[in-house]
Amino acid sequence: MTDTGALKKLQQALRRLPGVGPKSAQRMAFHLLERDREGGQQIAAALNQALNRIQKCCRCQNFSESELCVLCASPRRDPALLCVVENPADLAAVEQSGAYKGMYFVLMGHLSPLDGIGPEEMGIDKLHRLLESESIKEVILATNLTVEGQATADYLGEFVSRHKIPVTRLARGLPIGGELEYLDRGTVTQAFQDRKSIG
Ligand SMILES: [Zn+2]
Repeated sequence: MTDTGALKKLQQALRRLPGVGPKSAQRMAFHLLERDREGGQQIAAALNQALNRIQKCCRCQNFSESELCVLCASPRRDPALLCVVENPADLAAVEQSGAYKGMYFVLMGHLSPLDGIGPEEMGIDKLHRLLESESIKEVILATNLTVEGQATADYLGEFVSRHKIPVTRLARGLPIGGELEYLDRGTVTQAFQDRKSIG
C-alpha cells in the first residue's frame, strides 16, 4: 500500500512540470525506477541544490546564485540600456543573439489578471526604483508578441514614459504571437536592430 502511495506521489509531482500529462508522468516514473535509479538520485539532488541556492537577483529579478546576478555585476554591460523581458528563457534568447549588451529586467511573467498576475507580481516597484536611481537612457520592451505580452508592453510603455525615459519596442522581424525563446538568433537580432520608439 505504501509503495503504491510513493509511486502515485512521484507521478503527481512529475505532472506539475509544464507539458507533462498523466501518461508521460507514468513513463518517467517507471523509467527512473526501473532503468535509471542513479539518474533519479541526480535529478533529486540537482533539484534540491537549485531550490536551495537559486534566488532572484535583487536588481533584475533573474535567477541567480548570488544576491546580484552575473549580468548585473558585469562592468562590461552598458548601464544606459535596460531591456525588459518576460522570463529567463527570453533573456537567454536575447543573450544568444549577441545583439544586445545592456542590462535587463525580468518580469517573471506577463500581465494576466485572470491568473492573479498584476503589476505588483511582476516587480513593478523594483522597476520603478531602478528607473529612478539609475541613469537609464532607453528602455527596450522585449515582451513577447502574444496578446498578454502586448498588453504588458502597453502597460509598461506608459509606466516608463512617466519617468521621462525613451521607450522602444521590438517590432519588425518578430512574428505575431512570437515568443523570443523559440526564435532563431537572426530574427532576435533583427528585432533589436529594428526596435521602434513608442514613447
Ligand atoms: Zn541581475
